[in-house]
Amino acid sequence: MDIPSLQLNDQTSIPQFGLGVWQVPADETQRVVTDALELGYRHIDTAQMYGNEAGVGAALAASGLARDEVYVTTKLNNGFHEPARAKESLARSLELLGLDQVDLFLIHWPLPTRYDGDFVSTWEALAELRSEGLTRSIGVSNFQPQHIDRIVEATGVVPAVNQIEVHPYFANEAAREATRRHGALVEAWSPLGQGGGELTDEVVVRIAQAHGKTPAQVLLRWQVDRGDIVFPKSMSRDRLAENAAIFDFALTTAEVAELAALDRGPAGRQGPDPDVFD
Ligand code: NAD
Repeated sequence: MDIPSLQLNDQTSIPQFGLGVWQVPADETQRVVTDALELGYRHIDTAQMYGNEAGVGAALAASGLARDEVYVTTKLNNGFHEPARAKESLARSLELLGLDQVDLFLIHWPLPTRYDGDFVSTWEALAELRSEGLTRSIGVSNFQPQHIDRIVEATGVVPAVNQIEVHPYFANEAAREATRRHGALVEAWSPLGQGGGELTDEVVVRIAQAHGKTPAQVLLRWQVDRGDIVFPKSMSRDRLAENAAIFDFALTTAEVAELAALDRGPAGRQGPDPDVFD
């Protein structure tokens, strides 16, 4: 499998495509991640909140792959924003993953109301964790433009990525634009709209038929072409293979425009609004 790598603003690189394991049950995670690694996936996106870091670690250990062959991301759980707890939590994640270092550690949610917006001290803790070598890169997730502006202004430390909800029904352009303005890359979560209506949308289905591809492959190709990083979730080996087979066709300019026109603005959101989620 030939997966492109993208350069991050801290001079490291990241595979543009991988596997996300949200909602993969802990006792099935090793099997799913093993399938993905066997198929050629080299980027796994997990989180403390997902409760399946140990399964990811077991699959990595059993794979026989060298540490630098697989890109591993985890994310700080919402209860651990206080700097000392953030640090303890990464130590625990490393234990569960069986690693000395993750490739990327993210603040999962800004929680601007729960902590009176004090994600700045959390961000400083992540910068220290990077200096200590426990994570190669640091980033944020679900940060709105004002949240990214705030951490960069307060600390001068730019996140490598902002992982945000993006799919055709919710293009999330303001957050994408703010992320890129700071030189960070967008990681598009729920790129398949969590298996919802986009997969049967007549525009998506028609474009898929025109290329002899599936709707899922069209959605993923569209996002990869926009320069975003994607890690669709599936527990089926066949779908894992299908989702990865997106680098052998190209969408036309007209098709790209048609997909962009599906944006429903905030009504297209599947997940919580980061401004109020706590
Ligand atoms: P997704 O958009 O990847 O959709 C996954 C669902 O789509 C599957 O459960 C399945 O029902 C369906 N599906 C998968 N492949 C398919 C195919 N080929 N054909 C038809 N249906 C298919 O949803 P997601 O899991 O929410 O997002 C992907 C990853 O993004 C997560 O696993 C997680 O790693 C990350 N994520 C992060 C956040 C965050 O707050 N940072 C939030 C949600 C998701």
